[in-house]
Amino acid sequence: MAKSFIQSLPKAELHLHLEGSVEPGTLAELSRRHNTPLPTENNRYDVRGSGDVLSEEDVRRLYSYKDFNGFMLAFKSVTERLRTPEDYELITYRLMQKLRQQNIVHAEVYVSVGVIRWRGQDFGPIFEGMERGRERGLRDFGISLLWIFDAVRHFGPEAAAEVFDLAAQYRERNVAAIGIGGDERRGPAEWFRDLYKKAADQGLRLTAHAGETTGPESVWSALNIGAERIGHGLSIAQDPELVEVLAHKQVPVEICLSSNLRTGVCAGFGEHPLKSFFDEGLMVTLNTDDPAMFQTSLCKEYELAVEEFGFSRDQLREIARNSFEASFLPVEKKLRFLQQVDGFAKR
Ligand SMILES: [Zn+2]
Repeated sequence: MAKSFIQSLPKAELHLHLEGSVEPGTLAELSRRHNTPLPTENNRYDVRGSGDVLSEEDVRRLYSYKDFNGFMLAFKSVTERLRTPEDYELITYRLMQKLRQQNIVHAEVYVSVGVIRWRGQDFGPIFEGMERGRERGLRDFGISLLWIFDAVRHFGPEAAAEVFDLAAQYRERNVAAIGIGGDERRGPAEWFRDLYKKAADQGLRLTAHAGETTGPESVWSALNIGAERIGHGLSIAQDPELVEVLAHKQVPVEICLSSNLRTGVCAGFGEHPLKSFFDEGLMVTLNTDDPAMFQTSLCKEYELAVEEFGFSRDQLREIARNSFEASFLPVEKKLRFLQQVDGFAKR
């Protein structure tokens, strides 16, 4: 399978965390920018002291965890080094540059607004920084980007309410959706039922990380509160009825192969349900989750689908089609992108 085919196929990415896209070089740069320690309560779980200046080598070490907990600590360590609106502008712009290199023409990017607020940062100026980065990225690379504001499940509904209110406030400025991430066990979807209803009434679209670290009941709960897309959904495979419902309703599932292996929620490619989901008619999309932190790219994820699961070119085209189909873009834009994929297919 020619890498060039995957490279030139027009693609969208729907499960991509802004904070997880920060490359070691950029984090080292940010770390030099802000060489002042944070308040000690934020230092508690840090791999090194938050105030330490990290070299690129330190960051590579920080990104070499072996399990979910190690990943969460590294993620936290990254967010601790994102301080100013300029930091957010820089990482947004660099992310879009990476997208361009892979012919990812549209992305829906999670921002951990729950974490930003938990750290006591003023979100308004940060959002302006993100938007400046997005506008520059659109101008320089022609990439379309929508934001998804992510709340942290285990911080509870009150904290999430604040995140979703911010999403509603900025809805006209490229904020398409809301989501919940974090610990599924310590933050059941039911807690957020009323908030999801309210967000939908305000015109926001709904996603949820579910079935990544827990069983299929977590995915049922996400569906029950109105989630339109499922992030990860690994454990869907354990429940044939759930597979049937998701296939019937064509609920998109955001698969993140490298992420699942690196965090250890999946033991190996042989155990991963990607191909069975696809064969059973689920609307599967491929994503990186946190490309810098998992040393991957969307092109690599497509290559893995070929190498580890034997996907054909036609099947990859279908996955690329799904990525636009499952997006939260307005219909006309969606159609325009789908035409690009279909035009590519005819070549
Ligand atoms: Zn994620």
